[in-house]
Amino acid sequence: MDKRHLGKTGLEVTMLGYGGIKLPNISEQEAAECLNLALDLGVNFIDTARNYRDSEEKIGKALHKRRDEFYIATKTSARDARTVEEQLGISLRNLQTDYIDIYQLHTVSNADTWEAVRAPGGAYEAALKAREEGKIGHIGVTIHRDKQVMKETIASGLFETIMVCYNPMDAEDVAGEILPLAKEANMGVIIMKPLSGGQLTQPKNSRIAGLGGPDAVIAGTLRSVMQNPHVDVVIPGMQAVAEVEENVAVAENFAPLSGQEHEELLRLIGQLSTEFRYGQVCLRCGYCQPCTVGIDIPAVFKAADMKRGYDEKLHYLASEVWESVEVKPEACVECEKCMEKCPAGINIPEQLKQAAALFAGL
Ligand code: SF4
Ligand code: SF4
Repeated sequence: MDKRHLGKTGLEVTMLGYGGIKLPNISEQEAAECLNLALDLGVNFIDTARNYRDSEEKIGKALHKRRDEFYIATKTSARDARTVEEQLGISLRNLQTDYIDIYQLHTVSNADTWEAVRAPGGAYEAALKAREEGKIGHIGVTIHRDKQVMKETIASGLFETIMVCYNPMDAEDVAGEILPLAKEANMGVIIMKPLSGGQLTQPKNSRIAGLGGPDAVIAGTLRSVMQNPHVDVVIPGMQAVAEVEENVAVAENFAPLSGQEHEELLRLIGQLSTEFRYGQVCLRCGYCQPCTVGIDIPAVFKAADMKRGYDEKLHYLASEVWESVEVKPEACVECEKCMEKCPAGINIPEQLKQAAALFAGL
């Protein structure tokens, strides 16, 4: 698998990385199988986060004996130095390592957060200290939205890597406005949500025949992201051996899409559900969990997206997801605690009501 130079970090990373966000969905043994297979097949970059529930622990348990075979990137959502220090200690323990290659300030996605992390006593100060102490190698930032903050963090020169959402729909024009700036600043560019938080892996894609079926849509999407000259590493979340094999095959046999293939891909993706727009589409990141009253918010939104996006004959799939939700949206007490954590800026209580209306009478 080809490797790319991750900006000023100097690391040589495989163009496909392992996104650890979905590891909490599978057992320890399944996670170990997926992660070990990824390394066996040549992947050398794994990304996780302190708030991906037990993702760090699973990586640590599965791979601590192979620590010299991969770079590990994790993240903290803490905004103050003291909490970052605590969280870094937990991440190191979970990952069973004494060194994190890239430590990222997570979801710096609005002006207030950006100000808080760089203020005296803020998160950046602790990251800098950790780098001086040799606990981490490089400092990165992840931003889900707000292009102004993206531009300011790039211009600040404080970070060696930037992680942003980018996929062929690119409704926010990240490819045009942000990635070139990051490359000009010699930052490593890491792409999250290449498959739109899993929306492009839904069974509804089975109605797409033109490009060769659902697998081809996923492969086409990954190829389209990888061929952007400003992208260094793409980290789809993976939770099955088959997904690891398929994604590795795309990277190993990487070839850029022709203009015609790209147009076809966009046309086919255009047939899928809702347009990918921040504030409207749930990324299934799970950051909003746990809900105060126990609603599985991403599952509710998944059911609603399936109902809206699928052909009628596939609505039973949406109903299955809806029925699996134990605490229904009506239980929401509108405390809005989830909204503080949602990187997509979704008005969650409001969209829960809309989702419930779709399934009224079931
Ligand atoms: S606003 Fe509703 S969905 Fe969000 S945390 Fe509170 S109870 Fe849960
Ligand atoms: S509602 Fe927001 S925080 Fe929750 S899973 Fe969706 S995008 Fe993530």
